[in-house]
Amino acid sequence: MPELPEVETVRRGLIPAMEGRRIVSARLNRKDLRFAFPDRMAERLTGTQVERLDRRAKYLLARLGSGETLLMHLGMSGRFSILADDMARQPGDFVYAAPANPAHDHVVLEMEGGVTITYNDPRRFGFMTLFDTALEAQNPYLAQLGPEPDSNLFSGPHLAAALKGRRSPIKTALLDQRVVAGLGNIYVCEALWRARISPRRLAHTIAGERAERLAVAVRNVISEAIDAGGSTLRDYAGADGALGYFQHRFDAYGREGETCRGAGGRVCGKPVSRIVQQGRSTFFCPDCQR
Ligand SMILES: [Zn+2]
Repeated sequence: MPELPEVETVRRGLIPAMEGRRIVSARLNRKDLRFAFPDRMAERLTGTQVERLDRRAKYLLARLGSGETLLMHLGMSGRFSILADDMARQPGDFVYAAPANPAHDHVVLEMEGGVTITYNDPRRFGFMTLFDTALEAQNPYLAQLGPEPDSNLFSGPHLAAALKGRRSPIKTALLDQRVVAGLGNIYVCEALWRARISPRRLAHTIAGERAERLAVAVRNVISEAIDAGGSTLRDYAGADGALGYFQHRFDAYGREGETCRGAGGRVCGKPVSRIVQQGRSTFFCPDCQR
């Protein structure tokens, strides 16, 4: 499931295909994804220009000349691929993804300049909707989101304030998008490992220096993953996979039983553990993380 860094990588891959281009035609091959498409969606997209492609948390936001925003969420298995008529284009101008099963091509945007953007989603947990850009502050998907990890609003004091009084484990609290936007299971595990904080620690005990350490770990884990995605984009050969899905080297996530590399520069060597919290796997080192 894509988290913030993967969605950011998708955004960067889509920018050259979308920004500044008019949508010549929009085709919806069904009435819904996770939710029904909005009324007249194809007509509302057709003929308008994508002025900018933004991201907030795990949402892609295409700002349209019509005054509306196209909000896109990749769900579990959503992916975009880009095809261009102009084969003389230099590699790196676009990221070409291998074609997926066309039975799951649900939305096709023909862009100005002979560029086709296809949204494919076998499991259909993704969704798209349109809203009036001027009303963004009241949008139900966006209004409650906490700060982006790389924003000035996200800091140790912010975390301490957001976690104050919370009796849930910190692992669970960090998945709450009102605390910090865009984190999912993978990067929460990684950030807690890096900050040497146990996933079982009660959220309200995170304050002061510990909150500072956690904020720094969240920011660094996310920015390093975005950088890794960027290098994947540059090196992309078009062989397989889709925009933004790439293998990272994780320190905790998925490493049950493997040797801990030692969080925060510690010498460790103990095995990484796995527990289940709220139905989801948490990977951590009981030796490094307290
Ligand atoms: Zn360890």
